[in-house]
Amino acid sequence: MTKKKPDTTTHPDTLLAHIGRHPQDNHGFVNPPVIHASTVLFPDIETMIEGGQRYTYARRGTPTSDALEEAVSALEGAAGTRLAPSGLAAIAVALQSCLSAGDHLLVADSVYGPCRNFCNSVLNRFGVSVSYYDPLDLDALEAAFRPETRAVFTEAPGSLTFEMQDIPAIAEMAHKRDAIVLNDNTWASPLYFKPIEHGVDLSIQAGTKYIVGHSDVMLGTVAASERAWKALEKTHGDMGMCAGPDDIYLALRGLRTMGVRLERHMKNALEVAGWLSGREEVAQVFYPALPGAPGHEIWKRDFAGASGLFSVELAPASDDAVKAFINALEIFGLGYSWGGFESLLTWPRPKAIRTATSWDAAGPLLRLHIGLEDPADLIADLEGGFAAFNAART
Ligand SMILES: *Cc1c(COP(=O)(O)O)cnc(C)c1O
Repeated sequence: MTKKKPDTTTHPDTLLAHIGRHPQDNHGFVNPPVIHASTVLFPDIETMIEGGQRYTYARRGTPTSDALEEAVSALEGAAGTRLAPSGLAAIAVALQSCLSAGDHLLVADSVYGPCRNFCNSVLNRFGVSVSYYDPLDLDALEAAFRPETRAVFTEAPGSLTFEMQDIPAIAEMAHKRDAIVLNDNTWASPLYFKPIEHGVDLSIQAGTKYIVGHSDVMLGTVAASERAWKALEKTHGDMGMCAGPDDIYLALRGLRTMGVRLERHMKNALEVAGWLSGREEVAQVFYPALPGAPGHEIWKRDFAGASGLFSVELAPASDDAVKAFINALEIFGLGYSWGGFESLLTWPRPKAIRTATSWDAAGPLLRLHIGLEDPADLIADLEGGFAAFNAART
């Protein structure tokens, strides 16, 4: 008897363990083989002329890319998914799939910086006009629509500053005008927020972060709703986009444990964020999962959990005091990216990259990624940082 595969109504943890693999198609081996390929052979010239087989050329898909796309589609409830060699490339192909010269794009002012740069450079150069909107002001967004507005880019919470956008309200507004809604959902992952269920058409993940989960691969995914899928599929193919087989394999491997990893990231982050919010050196904690934090109500309404990334505004201090804090840390690494097993910290400057809103916080902003270490050790490390901070402040 053949055992039944779990369907998409199954609990997410069960899905994560089973999606994107078909052991009985692969001699019973639990994990799918990794297909390294460019050329695919055809049995005869008729099949070649007709393109009459599932695989024709590795850029256009392999059993390996199919496995991850199938898995992500199941998690996202998507009509289809395409892979990109990085999260930024996923953003780029998603935007290019729904915009043409003469179109207008609305982008949240709190968006991931390199996304803004792509819009201002490549999209502008190809005749797409871009304007930025206050991520929290629905009336201003409504007023910013033009007859030629074809897409709205969202990110919740916003990069660096963690504004929680009201995605269902924005989706309704956009769909009334037949505009496509894009959402960078890297922070929550499809486990903790379901963009497509909330009205999004193109749901983007920097797979580099929590899907891969081990700081060792660059990858992006775009999952599409019915209305956005055909255009995504075509543009992705037209652009020659694909991801490497070993990277895809590591993403499939990462997916299996994403549920347990995220649970621990959230538990640790809540503990560290709660501790930070009680420190006199901290002016504000921007972690939507923390009761009382900005965006907590929307987070509670729409999200099933939170990841390990948040920011804190410190009390006003000199650059030297901030440097003393950071350099005193022994466990937190100093590095870009996040979503791996280890704790990281950066010192972002959101003020410089905003246009529709301003970032006027009096104190410096630090972005923390809380990893899978023991939270007591992370807190002790931060305590050491504050000791150095206070010594440099006085
Ligand atoms: C890191 C990141 C990306 C880009 O992913 P890469 O794989 O680094 O290109 C996109 N969006 C957000 C929110 C990110 O944090």
